[in-house]
Amino acid sequence: MSDNQIIMLGTGHATVTRCYNTCFVLKSGNDMLLADAGGGNGILSQLKKAHIDLADIHDMFITHAHTDHILGAVWIVRMVIQRMKNNTYDGCFSVYGHDKSLNVLDSICRSTLHVSYQAYLGKRVFFHEVKDADIFNVGDMEIQCFDIKSAKEKQFGFRAILPDGQKLVCLGDEPYNEANRLYAENADWLMCEAFCLYADREIFKPYEKQHSTALEAGIIADKLNAGNLLLYHTEDKNLPARKSKYTAEASQNFKGNIYVPDDLDVIDIA
Ligand SMILES: [Zn+2]
Repeated sequence: MSDNQIIMLGTGHATVTRCYNTCFVLKSGNDMLLADAGGGNGILSQLKKAHIDLADIHDMFITHAHTDHILGAVWIVRMVIQRMKNNTYDGCFSVYGHDKSLNVLDSICRSTLHVSYQAYLGKRVFFHEVKDADIFNVGDMEIQCFDIKSAKEKQFGFRAILPDGQKLVCLGDEPYNEANRLYAENADWLMCEAFCLYADREIFKPYEKQHSTALEAGIIADKLNAGNLLLYHTEDKNLPARKSKYTAEASQNFKGNIYVPDDLDVIDIA
């Protein structure tokens, strides 16, 4: 088992019902970064199934303020504070995101959490606004945020430099923009959305939703000289065949390793 892992908590797009929305934990030793939290309370059962204790998570990154990424974060904040109140959570909890994401999260938390919970905001639960190119650290992992230049909704991806020097890039849930080549090229691990198969584009209509397919993900990974490609944020109509079909399509253009994880898959970053 590697010291570094990706623990996929969810792999689906916004309206899936057969799996959870895309979110994951990036783990290095005992340090964990939760990247997004899906669309609701389901994040709690995903963490439980993954045997992750909330008390071990002290950092969360929010890519953008769409429902399928940020509403689960409200539950994370609520449960972290509950643990703090019960003295079963040591230290502080930090949330990183751009101004829009944090404003939305703060606003929902203040509108929905009990006043005794709100007292923890800014005391032991901190919202850290990050700007394009800002760097923060989670243990020995260095995380650099970048604006993915979405035409739809302000969204940040990130590049993580792991303690062993490996580079992992999360492109968020929209197609790669050439403006981010500096961050994304030569990644050892490239995490890229694939809304559906190119073969199924007429069924799922990815392009009109500002999404792309496994075929384009393979083209991008090849162009960016990635080592490993991980596909996520997919449709969920045929999950048993997803791994083989998406891999086959992406491999037409990308010759490195391709991962199409199911929810709760753990991937060694080795
Ligand atoms: Zn999404």
